[in-house]
Amino acid sequence: MFDVIVIGSGPGGYVAAIRAAQLGLKTACVEKEKVLGGTCLNVGCIPSKCLLHSSEVYFSLLHEGKTHGVDADPKINFPQMMKRKQSVVAGFNQGIQGLFKKNGVTSITGTATFKDPHTIIVNNEEIEGKNFILATGSEPTPLPFLPFDEKKILSSTGALALKDIPKKMIVVGAGIIGVELGSVYSRLGTQVHFVEFLDRICPTLDVSLSQGLQKLLTAQGMTFQLSSKVTAASGTTLTLESGESLTGDVVLVAIGRRPYTQNLGLDKVGIAPNERGFIPINKNFQTSHPHIYAIGDIVDGPMLAHKASDEGYVVSELIAGNTPTIDYLCIPSVVYTYPEAAAVGLTEAEAKAMGLPIKTAQFPMLANSRASCTGDTQGFVKMVAHKETDRLLGVHILAPHAGELIAEATLALQAKLTAAELAHTCHAHPTLSEALKECGLALSDKPIHI
Ligand SMILES: Cc1cc2nc3c(=O)[nH]c(=O)nc-3n(C[C@H](O)[C@H](O)[C@H](O)COP(=O)(O)OP(=O)(O)OC[C@H]3O[C@@H](n4cnc5c(N)ncnc54)[C@H](O)[C@@H]3O)c2cc1C
Repeated sequence: MFDVIVIGSGPGGYVAAIRAAQLGLKTACVEKEKVLGGTCLNVGCIPSKCLLHSSEVYFSLLHEGKTHGVDADPKINFPQMMKRKQSVVAGFNQGIQGLFKKNGVTSITGTATFKDPHTIIVNNEEIEGKNFILATGSEPTPLPFLPFDEKKILSSTGALALKDIPKKMIVVGAGIIGVELGSVYSRLGTQVHFVEFLDRICPTLDVSLSQGLQKLLTAQGMTFQLSSKVTAASGTTLTLESGESLTGDVVLVAIGRRPYTQNLGLDKVGIAPNERGFIPINKNFQTSHPHIYAIGDIVDGPMLAHKASDEGYVVSELIAGNTPTIDYLCIPSVVYTYPEAAAVGLTEAEAKAMGLPIKTAQFPMLANSRASCTGDTQGFVKMVAHKETDRLLGVHILAPHAGELIAEATLALQAKLTAAELAHTCHAHPTLSEALKECGLALSDKPIHI
Protein backbone atom coordinates (compact mmCIF):
# COMPACT_ATOMS: atom_id res chain seq x y z
CA MET A 1 0.00 0.00 0.00
CA PHE A 2 1.45 3.37 -1.05
CA ASP A 3 0.81 6.53 0.96
CA VAL A 4 0.55 8.50 -2.28
CA ILE A 5 0.01 7.35 -5.86
CA VAL A 6 0.46 10.09 -8.44
CA ILE A 7 -1.12 9.48 -11.86
CA GLY A 8 0.76 11.33 -14.61
CA SER A 9 4.40 12.44 -14.67
CA GLY A 10 4.05 15.92 -16.18
CA PRO A 11 5.30 19.00 -14.30
CA GLY A 12 2.36 18.64 -11.91
CA GLY A 13 2.73 14.93 -11.26
CA TYR A 14 6.49 14.49 -11.06
CA VAL A 15 6.95 17.47 -8.73
CA ALA A 16 4.12 16.19 -6.50
CA ALA A 17 5.73 12.73 -6.40
CA ILE A 18 9.20 14.02 -5.54
CA ARG A 19 7.88 16.35 -2.83
CA ALA A 20 5.70 13.61 -1.31
CA ALA A 21 8.72 11.28 -1.15
CA GLN A 22 10.87 14.06 0.34
CA LEU A 23 8.25 14.43 3.07
CA GLY A 24 8.65 10.77 3.98
CA LEU A 25 5.55 9.41 2.23
CA LYS A 26 5.80 6.07 0.38
CA THR A 27 5.14 7.30 -3.16
CA ALA A 28 4.57 5.87 -6.65
CA CYS A 29 4.14 7.75 -9.93
CA VAL A 30 2.31 6.02 -12.79
CA GLU A 31 2.91 7.23 -16.35
CA LYS A 32 1.31 5.74 -19.46
CA GLU A 33 4.04 6.90 -21.84
CA LYS A 34 7.48 5.28 -21.98
CA VAL A 35 9.12 8.59 -21.05
CA LEU A 36 8.56 10.81 -18.02
CA GLY A 37 7.85 14.54 -18.10
CA GLY A 38 4.39 14.80 -19.67
CA THR A 39 3.28 17.36 -22.25
CA CYS A 40 5.64 20.07 -21.02
CA LEU A 41 8.84 18.10 -21.46
CA ASN A 42 7.98 15.91 -24.43
CA VAL A 43 5.64 17.90 -26.69
CA GLY A 44 5.28 21.32 -25.06
CA CYS A 45 7.39 23.88 -23.23
CA ILE A 46 10.82 22.34 -23.72
CA PRO A 47 10.81 21.27 -27.40
CA SER A 48 9.06 24.50 -28.41
CA LYS A 49 11.62 26.65 -26.57
CA CYS A 50 14.46 24.66 -28.18
CA LEU A 51 13.08 25.35 -31.67
CA LEU A 52 12.33 28.97 -30.79
CA HIS A 53 15.94 29.48 -29.75
CA SER A 54 17.46 27.64 -32.73
CA SER A 55 15.31 29.58 -35.19
CA GLU A 56 16.20 32.83 -33.41
CA VAL A 57 19.92 32.08 -33.77
CA TYR A 58 19.40 31.68 -37.53
CA PHE A 59 17.10 34.70 -37.88
CA SER A 60 19.33 37.08 -35.96
CA LEU A 61 22.46 36.04 -37.84
CA LEU A 62 20.61 36.46 -41.11
CA HIS A 63 19.06 39.83 -40.33
CA GLU A 64 21.24 41.44 -37.67
CA GLY A 65 24.70 39.97 -38.20
CA LYS A 66 25.80 42.73 -40.57
CA THR A 67 24.75 45.53 -38.20
CA HIS A 68 26.91 43.99 -35.49
CA GLY A 69 29.87 43.61 -37.85
CA VAL A 70 29.40 39.86 -38.20
CA ASP A 71 29.25 38.88 -41.86
CA ALA A 72 27.70 35.44 -42.13
CA ASP A 73 25.76 33.44 -44.65
CA PRO A 74 23.76 31.12 -42.35
CA LYS A 75 22.06 28.02 -43.75
CA ILE A 76 19.39 25.98 -42.05
CA ASN A 77 20.16 22.37 -41.14
CA PHE A 78 16.62 21.43 -40.11
CA PRO A 79 17.35 17.77 -39.19
CA GLN A 80 20.12 19.00 -36.84
CA MET A 81 17.73 21.55 -35.29
CA MET A 82 15.24 18.74 -34.59
CA LYS A 83 17.99 16.41 -33.36
CA ARG A 84 19.25 18.99 -30.89
CA LYS A 85 15.72 19.57 -29.59
CA GLN A 86 15.24 15.83 -29.10
CA SER A 87 18.52 15.42 -27.25
CA VAL A 88 17.58 18.22 -24.82
CA VAL A 89 14.26 16.45 -24.19
CA ALA A 90 15.95 13.05 -23.75
CA GLY A 91 18.38 14.55 -21.23
CA PHE A 92 15.51 15.78 -19.06
CA ASN A 93 13.61 12.45 -19.47
CA GLN A 94 16.56 10.75 -17.84
CA GLY A 95 16.93 13.59 -15.35
CA ILE A 96 13.43 13.00 -13.94
CA GLN A 97 14.08 9.26 -13.80
CA GLY A 98 17.24 10.04 -11.82
CA LEU A 99 15.37 12.38 -9.46
CA PHE A 100 12.75 9.67 -8.82
CA LYS A 101 15.49 7.20 -7.97
CA LYS A 102 17.34 9.64 -5.73
CA ASN A 103 14.17 10.54 -3.80
CA GLY A 104 12.79 7.00 -3.60
CA VAL A 105 9.75 7.45 -5.87
CA THR A 106 8.59 4.14 -7.41
CA SER A 107 8.16 4.76 -11.13
CA ILE A 108 5.52 2.61 -12.85
CA THR A 109 4.95 2.57 -16.62
CA GLY A 110 1.38 1.90 -17.72
CA THR A 111 -2.11 3.37 -17.85
CA ALA A 112 -3.72 3.76 -14.43
CA THR A 113 -7.45 3.01 -14.19
CA PHE A 114 -9.45 3.14 -10.98
CA LYS A 115 -11.04 -0.09 -9.81
CA ASP A 116 -12.39 1.44 -6.60
CA PRO A 117 -11.54 4.57 -4.56
CA HIS A 118 -8.41 2.95 -3.04
CA THR A 119 -7.27 0.73 -5.94
CA ILE A 120 -5.96 1.35 -9.44
CA ILE A 121 -5.19 -1.22 -12.10
CA VAL A 122 -1.96 -0.83 -14.09
CA ASN A 123 -0.88 -3.52 -16.56
CA ASN A 124 -3.50 -5.89 -15.07
CA GLU A 125 -2.05 -5.46 -11.59
CA GLU A 126 -3.91 -3.96 -8.66
CA ILE A 127 -2.09 -1.25 -6.71
CA GLU A 128 -3.50 0.24 -3.53
CA GLY A 129 -3.02 3.76 -2.22
CA LYS A 130 -4.09 5.81 0.79
CA ASN A 131 -4.07 8.99 -1.31
CA PHE A 132 -4.15 9.63 -5.07
CA ILE A 133 -3.05 12.72 -6.97
CA LEU A 134 -4.58 12.95 -10.44
CA ALA A 135 -2.29 14.86 -12.80
CA THR A 136 -3.25 13.50 -16.21
CA GLY A 137 -2.95 16.83 -18.01
CA SER A 138 -4.47 17.95 -21.28
CA GLU A 139 -4.49 17.34 -25.04
CA PRO A 140 -4.86 19.61 -28.11
CA THR A 141 -8.47 20.42 -29.02
CA PRO A 142 -9.23 19.59 -32.68
CA LEU A 143 -11.72 21.38 -34.90
CA PRO A 144 -14.62 18.93 -35.38
CA PHE A 145 -14.37 19.09 -39.18
CA LEU A 146 -10.56 19.04 -39.30
CA PRO A 147 -9.10 16.07 -37.40
CA PHE A 148 -5.34 15.98 -36.82
CA ASP A 149 -3.30 13.71 -39.11
CA GLU A 150 -0.04 15.29 -37.82
CA LYS A 151 1.31 15.46 -41.39
CA LYS A 152 -0.75 18.19 -43.04
CA ILE A 153 -3.29 18.97 -40.33
CA LEU A 154 -1.13 19.57 -37.31
CA SER A 155 -1.60 19.94 -33.61
CA SER A 156 1.29 21.51 -31.69
CA THR A 157 2.70 17.97 -31.33
CA GLY A 158 2.92 17.53 -35.11
CA ALA A 159 4.30 21.04 -35.61
CA LEU A 160 7.17 20.16 -33.25
CA ALA A 161 8.09 17.10 -35.31
CA LEU A 162 7.89 18.17 -38.97
CA LYS A 163 10.39 16.57 -41.36
CA ASP A 164 10.56 19.56 -43.70
CA ILE A 165 10.01 23.28 -43.44
CA PRO A 166 6.63 24.04 -45.08
CA LYS A 167 6.32 26.88 -47.62
CA LYS A 168 3.00 28.10 -46.30
CA MET A 169 1.44 27.43 -42.90
CA ILE A 170 -2.02 28.52 -41.84
CA VAL A 171 -2.35 28.75 -38.10
CA VAL A 172 -5.88 28.57 -36.77
CA GLY A 173 -5.78 30.37 -33.41
CA ALA A 174 -3.35 33.16 -32.52
CA GLY A 175 -3.01 32.24 -28.85
CA ILE A 176 0.28 31.65 -27.10
CA ILE A 177 1.04 28.22 -28.61
CA GLY A 178 0.03 29.41 -32.09
CA VAL A 179 2.20 32.53 -32.13
CA GLU A 180 5.20 30.68 -30.67
CA LEU A 181 5.14 27.86 -33.23
CA GLY A 182 4.19 30.29 -36.01
CA SER A 183 7.26 32.34 -35.06
CA VAL A 184 9.53 29.28 -35.33
CA TYR A 185 8.50 28.54 -38.92
CA SER A 186 8.24 32.18 -39.97
CA ARG A 187 11.89 32.67 -38.95
CA LEU A 188 12.85 29.62 -41.00
CA GLY A 189 11.23 31.10 -44.11
CA THR A 190 7.66 29.74 -44.00
CA GLN A 191 4.90 32.13 -44.96
CA VAL A 192 2.78 32.08 -41.80
CA HIS A 193 -0.82 33.32 -41.80
CA PHE A 194 -3.00 33.36 -38.67
CA VAL A 195 -6.79 33.14 -38.57
CA GLU A 196 -8.10 34.20 -35.18
CA PHE A 197 -11.72 34.16 -34.03
CA LEU A 198 -11.27 36.99 -31.52
CA ASP A 199 -10.36 40.59 -32.34
CA ARG A 200 -6.84 40.35 -30.91
CA ILE A 201 -3.99 37.88 -30.52
CA CYS A 202 -3.07 36.25 -27.18
CA PRO A 203 -6.33 37.47 -25.62
CA THR A 204 -5.32 36.76 -22.01
CA LEU A 205 -2.69 39.51 -22.22
CA ASP A 206 -3.25 43.19 -21.46
CA VAL A 207 -4.61 44.79 -24.67
CA SER A 208 -1.47 46.93 -24.98
CA LEU A 209 0.72 43.81 -25.08
CA SER A 210 -1.56 41.98 -27.54
CA GLN A 211 -1.54 44.92 -29.91
CA GLY A 212 2.16 45.68 -29.48
CA LEU A 213 3.11 42.05 -30.05
CA GLN A 214 0.92 41.74 -33.14
CA LYS A 215 2.58 44.83 -34.63
CA LEU A 216 6.06 43.42 -34.04
CA LEU A 217 5.21 39.95 -35.36
CA THR A 218 3.66 41.56 -38.44
CA ALA A 219 6.91 43.47 -39.00
CA GLN A 220 8.67 40.07 -38.96
CA GLY A 221 6.49 38.92 -41.88
CA MET A 222 3.62 37.06 -40.20
CA THR A 223 0.09 37.99 -41.27
CA PHE A 224 -3.04 38.06 -39.11
CA GLN A 225 -6.70 37.79 -39.98
CA LEU A 226 -8.62 38.65 -36.81
CA SER A 227 -12.34 38.32 -36.00
CA SER A 228 -12.48 35.45 -38.50
CA LYS A 229 -13.96 32.02 -38.03
CA VAL A 230 -13.01 28.86 -39.91
CA THR A 231 -16.24 27.00 -40.62
CA ALA A 232 -15.25 24.17 -42.97
CA ALA A 233 -12.24 22.49 -44.50
CA SER A 234 -11.27 20.23 -47.33
CA GLY A 235 -7.71 18.97 -47.02
CA THR A 236 -5.57 21.99 -46.25
CA THR A 237 -8.09 24.41 -47.76
CA LEU A 238 -10.07 26.25 -45.12
CA THR A 239 -13.36 28.07 -45.61
CA LEU A 240 -14.04 31.09 -43.44
CA GLU A 241 -17.43 32.32 -42.29
CA SER A 242 -17.05 35.21 -44.74
CA GLY A 243 -16.92 32.69 -47.62
CA GLU A 244 -13.23 33.34 -48.24
CA SER A 245 -11.01 30.29 -48.67
CA LEU A 246 -7.38 29.89 -47.66
CA THR A 247 -4.93 27.14 -48.56
CA GLY A 248 -1.64 26.24 -46.91
CA ASP A 249 0.85 23.40 -47.31
CA VAL A 250 0.05 22.61 -43.72
CA VAL A 251 -2.55 23.80 -41.22
CA LEU A 252 -1.67 24.15 -37.55
CA VAL A 253 -4.78 24.03 -35.38
CA ALA A 254 -3.95 25.82 -32.13
CA ILE A 255 -7.38 26.68 -30.76
CA GLY A 256 -6.68 25.50 -27.23
CA ARG A 257 -6.27 22.41 -25.08
CA ARG A 258 -8.78 20.30 -23.20
CA PRO A 259 -8.37 18.29 -20.01
CA TYR A 260 -7.43 14.64 -20.50
CA THR A 261 -9.13 12.10 -18.24
CA GLN A 262 -9.68 9.19 -20.65
CA ASN A 263 -9.17 5.66 -19.29
CA LEU A 264 -8.83 6.92 -15.71
CA GLY A 265 -12.03 5.11 -14.76
CA LEU A 266 -13.45 8.15 -12.98
CA ASP A 267 -16.94 6.61 -13.28
CA LYS A 268 -15.75 3.74 -11.06
CA VAL A 269 -15.16 6.22 -8.23
CA GLY A 270 -18.05 8.55 -8.95
CA ILE A 271 -15.97 11.61 -9.90
CA ALA A 272 -17.71 13.57 -12.65
CA PRO A 273 -15.77 16.12 -14.73
CA ASN A 274 -17.64 19.42 -15.24
CA GLU A 275 -19.20 20.48 -18.56
CA ARG A 276 -15.78 21.64 -19.86
CA GLY A 277 -14.09 18.37 -18.85
CA PHE A 278 -12.24 19.75 -15.79
CA ILE A 279 -12.27 17.85 -12.50
CA PRO A 280 -14.03 19.86 -9.78
CA ILE A 281 -11.94 20.32 -6.61
CA ASN A 282 -12.12 22.32 -3.38
CA LYS A 283 -9.44 24.80 -2.23
CA ASN A 284 -7.33 21.90 -0.95
CA PHE A 285 -7.35 20.19 -4.40
CA GLN A 286 -9.71 17.46 -3.09
CA THR A 287 -12.27 15.89 -5.40
CA SER A 288 -15.54 14.51 -4.09
CA HIS A 289 -13.34 11.86 -2.40
CA PRO A 290 -11.16 13.67 0.17
CA HIS A 291 -8.22 11.28 -0.46
CA ILE A 292 -8.30 11.76 -4.27
CA TYR A 293 -6.71 15.07 -5.26
CA ALA A 294 -6.42 16.69 -8.72
CA ILE A 295 -3.92 19.28 -10.01
CA GLY A 296 -2.53 20.89 -13.16
CA ASP A 297 -4.22 21.07 -16.54
CA ILE A 298 -7.12 18.81 -15.49
CA VAL A 299 -8.36 21.40 -13.01
CA ASP A 300 -9.49 24.97 -13.60
CA GLY A 301 -6.96 27.78 -13.99
CA PRO A 302 -4.26 28.70 -16.47
CA MET A 303 -2.83 25.69 -18.35
CA LEU A 304 0.78 26.37 -17.42
CA ALA A 305 3.60 24.09 -16.34
CA HIS A 306 4.68 26.20 -13.34
CA LYS A 307 1.06 26.42 -12.11
CA ALA A 308 0.87 22.61 -12.30
CA SER A 309 4.22 22.24 -10.48
CA ASP A 310 3.28 24.67 -7.72
CA GLU A 311 0.01 22.80 -7.22
CA GLY A 312 1.94 19.50 -7.16
CA TYR A 313 4.28 20.79 -4.48
CA VAL A 314 1.48 22.25 -2.38
CA VAL A 315 -0.81 19.20 -2.63
CA SER A 316 1.93 16.90 -1.32
CA GLU A 317 2.57 19.32 1.56
CA LEU A 318 -1.16 19.26 2.35
CA ILE A 319 -1.23 15.44 2.34
CA ALA A 320 1.74 15.51 4.73
CA GLY A 321 -0.26 17.75 7.07
CA ASN A 322 1.33 21.11 6.26
CA THR A 323 -0.64 24.23 5.26
CA PRO A 324 0.95 26.03 2.29
CA THR A 325 -1.11 28.11 -0.15
CA ILE A 326 -0.83 29.44 -3.70
CA ASP A 327 -1.56 33.06 -4.61
CA TYR A 328 -3.19 32.67 -8.02
CA LEU A 329 -2.79 36.39 -8.72
CA CYS A 330 0.96 35.83 -8.74
CA ILE A 331 1.24 33.22 -11.51
CA PRO A 332 3.24 34.71 -14.36
CA SER A 333 2.56 33.95 -18.00
CA VAL A 334 5.11 34.22 -20.82
CA VAL A 335 4.86 34.26 -24.62
CA TYR A 336 8.29 33.21 -25.95
CA THR A 337 8.15 35.14 -29.22
CA TYR A 338 10.67 37.81 -30.18
CA PRO A 339 10.43 40.01 -28.27
CA GLU A 340 8.84 38.08 -25.44
CA ALA A 341 5.60 39.13 -23.76
CA ALA A 342 5.22 38.41 -20.07
CA ALA A 343 2.66 39.34 -17.48
CA VAL A 344 1.70 38.86 -13.87
CA GLY A 345 -1.31 40.09 -11.92
CA LEU A 346 -4.23 42.09 -13.23
CA THR A 347 -4.49 43.63 -16.67
CA GLU A 348 -5.71 47.23 -16.80
CA ALA A 349 -9.12 46.01 -18.05
CA GLU A 350 -9.43 43.42 -15.27
CA ALA A 351 -8.56 45.96 -12.57
CA LYS A 352 -11.12 48.40 -14.01
CA ALA A 353 -13.78 45.69 -14.25
CA MET A 354 -13.20 44.99 -10.54
CA GLY A 355 -13.91 48.67 -9.86
CA LEU A 356 -10.45 49.29 -8.39
CA PRO A 357 -9.11 52.86 -8.45
CA ILE A 358 -5.97 52.44 -10.54
CA LYS A 359 -3.11 54.31 -12.13
CA THR A 360 -0.92 53.01 -14.96
CA ALA A 361 2.44 53.90 -16.48
CA GLN A 362 4.57 52.69 -19.39
CA PHE A 363 8.30 52.89 -19.95
CA PRO A 364 9.65 52.22 -23.48
CA MET A 365 12.62 49.87 -24.00
CA LEU A 366 13.93 52.54 -26.40
CA ALA A 367 14.96 54.54 -23.32
CA ASN A 368 16.77 51.58 -21.71
CA SER A 369 20.55 51.62 -22.17
CA ARG A 370 21.11 47.84 -22.25
CA ALA A 371 18.43 47.47 -24.91
CA SER A 372 20.25 50.04 -27.03
CA CYS A 373 23.58 48.18 -26.59
CA THR A 374 22.07 44.94 -27.86
CA GLY A 375 19.78 46.54 -30.45
CA ASP A 376 16.63 45.24 -28.74
CA THR A 377 14.76 48.50 -28.30
CA GLN A 378 11.27 47.25 -29.20
CA GLY A 379 8.57 47.05 -26.57
CA PHE A 380 7.81 48.52 -23.16
CA VAL A 381 7.05 47.84 -19.51
CA LYS A 382 3.57 48.67 -18.25
CA MET A 383 2.50 48.70 -14.63
CA VAL A 384 -0.91 48.88 -13.00
CA ALA A 385 -1.07 50.00 -9.37
CA HIS A 386 -3.72 50.99 -6.83
CA LYS A 387 -4.23 54.74 -7.15
CA GLU A 388 -4.41 55.41 -3.41
CA THR A 389 -2.02 52.86 -1.90
CA ASP A 390 0.46 52.62 -4.81
CA ARG A 391 0.37 48.81 -4.38
CA LEU A 392 1.33 46.97 -7.56
CA LEU A 393 -1.58 45.07 -9.11
CA GLY A 394 -0.16 43.99 -12.46
CA VAL A 395 3.03 44.16 -14.51
CA HIS A 396 3.09 43.64 -18.28
CA ILE A 397 6.29 43.46 -20.28
CA LEU A 398 6.91 43.37 -24.02
CA ALA A 399 10.67 43.14 -24.33
CA PRO A 400 13.53 40.76 -25.01
CA HIS A 401 13.92 38.40 -22.03
CA ALA A 402 10.55 39.52 -20.63
CA GLY A 403 10.17 35.94 -19.38
CA GLU A 404 13.16 36.50 -17.09
CA LEU A 405 12.23 40.08 -16.16
CA ILE A 406 8.78 39.03 -14.99
CA ALA A 407 10.31 37.15 -12.01
CA GLU A 408 11.10 40.43 -10.26
CA ALA A 409 7.57 41.67 -10.83
CA THR A 410 6.12 38.38 -9.57
CA LEU A 411 8.13 38.66 -6.37
CA ALA A 412 6.99 42.27 -5.98
CA LEU A 413 3.34 41.27 -6.33
CA GLN A 414 3.73 38.27 -4.02
CA ALA A 415 5.40 40.51 -1.41
CA LYS A 416 2.61 43.08 -1.92
CA LEU A 417 5.12 45.83 -2.75
CA THR A 418 4.24 49.32 -3.91
CA ALA A 419 5.50 50.77 -7.19
CA ALA A 420 7.75 53.07 -5.17
CA GLU A 421 9.29 50.15 -3.24
CA LEU A 422 10.14 48.40 -6.49
CA ALA A 423 11.50 51.63 -7.96
CA HIS A 424 13.65 52.37 -4.92
CA THR A 425 15.33 48.95 -5.13
CA CYS A 426 18.81 49.25 -6.63
CA HIS A 427 18.98 47.71 -10.13
CA ALA A 428 22.30 46.87 -11.83
CA HIS A 429 23.32 49.06 -14.74
CA PRO A 430 23.12 48.57 -17.65
CA THR A 431 20.37 45.96 -17.49
CA LEU A 432 16.96 45.50 -19.03
CA SER A 433 15.58 45.31 -15.48
CA GLU A 434 16.18 49.06 -15.10
CA ALA A 435 13.08 49.47 -17.28
CA LEU A 436 11.06 48.05 -14.37
CA LYS A 437 12.65 50.49 -11.96
CA GLU A 438 11.91 53.39 -14.31
CA CYS A 439 8.33 52.27 -14.83
CA GLY A 440 7.94 52.06 -11.04
CA LEU A 441 9.30 55.62 -10.80
CA ALA A 442 6.94 56.78 -13.53
CA LEU A 443 4.04 55.31 -11.62
CA SER A 444 4.92 56.53 -8.14
CA ASP A 445 6.66 59.80 -8.99
CA LYS A 446 8.72 60.71 -12.09
CA PRO A 447 11.06 58.61 -14.27
CA ILE A 448 14.66 59.77 -14.71
CA HIS A 449 15.52 58.54 -18.19
CA ILE A 450 12.60 59.80 -20.23
C1 LIG B 1 3.45 23.41 -27.54
C2 LIG B 1 3.25 23.72 -26.10
C3 LIG B 1 4.05 24.65 -25.48
C4 LIG B 1 3.88 24.94 -24.14
N1 LIG B 1 4.71 25.86 -23.58
C5 LIG B 1 4.57 26.16 -22.28
C6 LIG B 1 5.45 27.08 -21.66
O1 LIG B 1 6.39 27.60 -22.29
N2 LIG B 1 5.28 27.34 -20.35
C7 LIG B 1 4.28 26.76 -19.62
O2 LIG B 1 4.16 27.05 -18.43
N3 LIG B 1 3.42 25.88 -20.18
C8 LIG B 1 3.56 25.56 -21.48
N4 LIG B 1 2.72 24.64 -22.05
C9 LIG B 1 1.66 24.03 -21.21
C10 LIG B 1 2.23 22.91 -20.32
O3 LIG B 1 2.85 21.95 -21.13
C11 LIG B 1 1.12 22.28 -19.50
O4 LIG B 1 0.44 23.29 -18.77
C12 LIG B 1 1.70 21.28 -18.51
O5 LIG B 1 2.38 20.24 -19.16
C13 LIG B 1 0.59 20.67 -17.64
O6 LIG B 1 1.17 19.79 -16.73
P1 LIG B 1 0.36 18.57 -16.09
O7 LIG B 1 1.31 17.92 -15.15
O8 LIG B 1 -0.94 19.03 -15.58
O9 LIG B 1 0.02 17.58 -17.32
P2 LIG B 1 0.85 16.98 -18.52
O10 LIG B 1 2.16 17.64 -18.68
O11 LIG B 1 -0.07 16.96 -19.68
O12 LIG B 1 1.15 15.49 -18.05
C14 LIG B 1 0.14 14.55 -17.88
C15 LIG B 1 0.76 13.16 -17.95
O13 LIG B 1 -0.21 12.20 -17.51
C16 LIG B 1 -0.09 11.03 -18.31
N5 LIG B 1 -1.35 10.27 -18.18
C17 LIG B 1 -2.58 10.65 -18.61
N6 LIG B 1 -3.51 9.73 -18.26
C18 LIG B 1 -2.84 8.76 -17.62
C19 LIG B 1 -3.25 7.53 -17.00
N7 LIG B 1 -4.52 7.14 -16.95
N8 LIG B 1 -2.28 6.74 -16.45
C20 LIG B 1 -0.97 7.13 -16.45
N9 LIG B 1 -0.55 8.27 -17.01
C21 LIG B 1 -1.48 9.08 -17.58
C22 LIG B 1 0.18 11.59 -19.68
O14 LIG B 1 0.77 10.60 -20.52
C23 LIG B 1 1.14 12.74 -19.37
O15 LIG B 1 2.47 12.32 -19.41
C24 LIG B 1 2.88 24.29 -23.38
C25 LIG B 1 2.06 23.34 -24.00
C26 LIG B 1 2.24 23.04 -25.33
C27 LIG B 1 1.37 22.00 -25.97
